Amino acid sequence: AERYSFAAGPAQLPREVLSQIHEELPDWQGSGFSLLEQPFTSTAYKQLMSDTEQDLRALAAIPANYRVLFLQGGASAQFGLLPLNLLQPGQSADYLESGHWACKAITEARRHGPVSVVASGAADGFTALPAVETWQLDPDAGYCHLTSNETGNGLQLRDFPQLSVPLVADMTSDFLTRPVPVERFGLIYASAQKNIGVAGLCLVIVRDDLLRPPSAGLPAAFSYAVQAEQQSRFNTPPTFALYVAALMLRWIAANGGLTAMAASCRKKSQRLYACLDHSELYRCRQREEDRSTVNVCFELREPALLPLLLTEAERAGLHHLAGHAAVGSLRASLYNAMPLAGVERLVAFLQQFEREHG
Ligand code: PLP
Repeated sequence: AERYSFAAGPAQLPREVLSQIHEELPDWQGSGFSLLEQPFTSTAYKQLMSDTEQDLRALAAIPANYRVLFLQGGASAQFGLLPLNLLQPGQSADYLESGHWACKAITEARRHGPVSVVASGAADGFTALPAVETWQLDPDAGYCHLTSNETGNGLQLRDFPQLSVPLVADMTSDFLTRPVPVERFGLIYASAQKNIGVAGLCLVIVRDDLLRPPSAGLPAAFSYAVQAEQQSRFNTPPTFALYVAALMLRWIAANGGLTAMAASCRKKSQRLYACLDHSELYRCRQREEDRSTVNVCFELREPALLPLLLTEAERAGLHHLAGHAAVGSLRASLYNAMPLAGVERLVAFLQQFEREHG
């Protein structure tokens, strides 16, 4: 029987993408060499990079005045690089404290510049997002940072505010799972290993007026302006991860694009939330309006059953359902590559487990 990975990342890949990698890897584009052996300066590889950028622009409706960067270091490196790249002397940055990943972004940003928290969900144990009307925004902030989807807490912003300062978003766990109004943002970043392929690649989409020469403390490889100037080839880009991203972009487009991805994520998550809300054994504490369509976090009212549940789930082909280390309990990640059949199998399993042990 088919096995499903509900891991938060690196995540399951579509079967079609995996077979294409298998097929193409040994002899890439008839070059006689594997893709893994391609110099990033070859004409064929440069073409792959520019095709990938064009495909991403088309898929995500990225306006012409935005630059697309293919960087290493993951979203975690961006946490520190944002203040170093975007803040002018004397400026501070606004952050929404929405959960585990926002806290990480804030802690790291504070090492490089002044940070002000506009609102926090900490008092609710990060089970709801602070309403935008309550955010204490600084009109002089260098930027305002949001985490569009809190991977570990299962919360997702439905809408993005129109602000006078540049809006910056960590979209690591939900980029390309729904359409977003890119023109409302100064910068969007996302690691690839959830919805855009494999680890090693971080996408940065930045409005060109925010590009400035690197300040003294900023390594040139991590300067948005330097990498934009050199088409992300200031140093070696993550060549394999970028190739997988190219395949994922084509797979998403072939499967209906972002509107279809959003409908699918909504359907999959609603199916699972409905099961949890009708159960006596499971509980989802996230406020309904803020629940994520890609990371469904839930608990057992009988926590001692957790190890048994995880073992039996694996036996049923349902893998990696443990919650984020900082949160515990359970989590099912339902990214683009998770088919509805995987969610139906999970729901059937959870109901059966409740009948037997609830
Ligand atoms: N931000 C969010 C929302 C995440 O979910 C993750 C990883 O799970 C990260 C940042 C960190 O990404 P990376 O491990 O690629 O640095």
